[in-house]
Amino acid sequence: MAQIDRGDGFETLAIHAGQEPDPLTGAVVPPIYQVSTYKQDGVGGLRGGSMAGAGTGPGRWVEGYEYSRTANPTRGALEECLAALEGGVRALAFASGMAAEDCLVRAVCQPGDHVLIPHDAYGGTFRLFDKVMAHWGVTYHPVPVSDTEAVRAAMAAHGARLIWVETPTNPLLSIADIGALAEVAHSAGALLAVDNTFASPYLQQPLALGADTVIHSTTKYLGGHSDVVGGALAVSDADLAERLAFLQNAVGSAGGPFDAWLTLRGVKTLAVRMDRHCDNGAQVAAMLANHPRVAQVYYPGLADHPGHEVAAKQMRGFGGMVSFRHAGGEAAAVEMCGRTRLFTLGESLGGVESLIEHPARMTHASVAGSPLEVPSDLVRLSVGIENIDDLIEDLRAALG
Ligand SMILES: *Cc1c(COP(=O)(O)O)cnc(C)c1O
Repeated sequence: MAQIDRGDGFETLAIHAGQEPDPLTGAVVPPIYQVSTYKQDGVGGLRGGSMAGAGTGPGRWVEGYEYSRTANPTRGALEECLAALEGGVRALAFASGMAAEDCLVRAVCQPGDHVLIPHDAYGGTFRLFDKVMAHWGVTYHPVPVSDTEAVRAAMAAHGARLIWVETPTNPLLSIADIGALAEVAHSAGALLAVDNTFASPYLQQPLALGADTVIHSTTKYLGGHSDVVGGALAVSDADLAERLAFLQNAVGSAGGPFDAWLTLRGVKTLAVRMDRHCDNGAQVAAMLANHPRVAQVYYPGLADHPGHEVAAKQMRGFGGMVSFRHAGGEAAAVEMCGRTRLFTLGESLGGVESLIEHPARMTHASVAGSPLEVPSDLVRLSVGIENIDDLIEDLRAALG
């Protein structure tokens, strides 16, 4: 079989990168190597190392297999696939998105360092900086990352080792200009990290726009089926990749082989799923924008969204996440979340099934009382890939 190369299209890479048929059996899908340790051929004679540096196959970055915390072939297949999809020199797969974030912060920051984070960051990201990193001497400052000049000013006022960006943000779907922020970060000697969870690599490739690191909760669109929790980092610099891999092994935050296998299975259909998420998301946003019981819709595909132009420039599509403010206030928003038939009331996002939630009381409860607090009448939708007429009818009925 011809080897996959980076010039192949996204859909091809998603299905084949890191996933050459098994050399021994010809299995077309990477097996689940549910194993902790590996036989050595004489002390230090590790198997699987022959592929090291060959640029293909799950052995690409290993000198051979000795212990699955350090390297596992199924995880390696996922890591190689994600590196190809993000256009990075390397990717690393973790037990969760938060484990990936923790690894990144500890690899690039030291006590005394400062980080700029989005003022509407994912709640778990805020909690990591506010309740965990702060105790280890890494401080943070929330900034509206959709406002490049505000970030530049915060950089001048506070300095930072790292600018942390989400775009689109969770749950307000604001858009940051990745290329412009890369320039702000690099001109001050800082790194730019982009949480690409909401867009997925199919819609947006931050490394190509100048970011140094991409972060994923693979739990969301990459896995895509609400059946596995995982995280990933992808980087454009080989030295940074080495430091991250060292830390991942040293602290033991890698994901397990079955989780990697499930995630890879999801990734194969990412492109077709995202196309449908984008179509359905746009139609839901358009319906909500014209509904009398909706006060405001947050969807970057709407022409009046403040980040629309930047999103159109740096994204291939606008995704399936839609938030809106219920005109009836908090009580009406909460009540609606319990009244849908197809949209399941639950946290998380990015799966094939539609979800509805109330961020202030659910995903973002940890930012209550902080500068990151979200409006209490906000409802967040993860628009799935069900029949769009059914989804629209469900929302109309629940809005009343
Ligand atoms: C879910 C999420 C995370 C955290 O990922 P986990 O897999 O839940 O640990 C980080 N960032 C964003 C934007 C998320 O939605």
